[in-house]
Amino acid sequence: MIHFVGAGPGAPDLITLRGAELLKTADVVVYAGSLVNPALLKLCPAGCEIHNSAEMTLEQVLSVMETAEQEGKTTVRLHTGDPCLYGAIREQMDALDAMGILYDDTPGVSSFCGAAAAAQAEYTLPEVSQSVVITRMAGRTAVPERESIAAWASHGASMAVFLSAGMLEGLQTELLKGTYTSNTPAALVYKATWPEEKVVRCTVGTLAESGRTHQISKTALVLVGDFLEPTYQRSKLYDPSFTTGFREASQ
Ligand code: SAH
Repeated sequence: MIHFVGAGPGAPDLITLRGAELLKTADVVVYAGSLVNPALLKLCPAGCEIHNSAEMTLEQVLSVMETAEQEGKTTVRLHTGDPCLYGAIREQMDALDAMGILYDDTPGVSSFCGAAAAAQAEYTLPEVSQSVVITRMAGRTAVPERESIAAWASHGASMAVFLSAGMLEGLQTELLKGTYTSNTPAALVYKATWPEEKVVRCTVGTLAESGRTHQISKTALVLVGDFLEPTYQRSKLYDPSFTTGFREASQ
C-alpha cells in the first residue's frame, strides 16, 4: 500500500496526526526533499528506507514503490503542504492504478494556510473579498492562457501566488493589468512556519523591489489583495442581530 501524505508547510508539528502515524510505521519513505522539512524523517522507524524525490524521476519513484509493494512493504510518499496543490500526484496515482497498486491520500496544511498564519491574515473578509485565487506564473511549466495572472487580477480577489518568487518583476507587471493598483497591499512570505520564516509587507508596486531588498527569490508565496490591510464589515456569523442554525438573534 502506498500512502500519499501532506507534510504541511514546514514546521514538523504541523503534519496531521494521521500523517505522523503513517510515517512511524513506514518501511519506505519517498519525500520531496526540496521543501519537506527533514526533521519529519525522525518519525520514521529504524531501518526505514528513505529516498529523496528531488533527485529522482517519476519512473524512479514508481520503481521504488513497485519494489516495496512486491516485498509487501508500506510506502509513504511525503509531499510538501497538501499533495493536491502542485504535487504531481495525479501522474503517480494513474501509474499506480495501471500497476494495480492500492494507495490513499492524507491531506496536509498547505503553505497558503501557513502563509496566512504567518501574516496574521484572513483571505475572506466580508465586503473585501470572499474568494481566494491559488495560482502561479507561467514559467518552465505553462499555465493555460485563460488563467493568466492578468486574468485573475481583473477580479481583485485575494490571491496566493505559488512558484513565482523568482519572477517578481513579471508578476508585478501582470498584476497591474487587472484591478489592482500599485498601492494594493501585497506580502512576500518566505518559508512560512519554518524557523527562518520572513513576512515582507509591501504593495503590488514595490513587489519586485522588496524581493530584491530581502533577497527572496524562492520558497515563498506572494499574497496579494486588500485583505492584507483591510477596511471590512464584521462577520454576520458572530453578529448579535443575526440568527444562525445554532443561535437566535439577541438584539
Ligand atoms: N503542495 C504545496 C505546494 C508545492 S509547490 C503546498 O500545498 O503548499 C512549491 C511552492 O509552494 C513553492 O515554490 C512556494 O511558492 C510554496 N511553498 C511551499 N512551502 C512554503 C512555505 N513554507 N512558505 C512559503 N511558500 C511555500
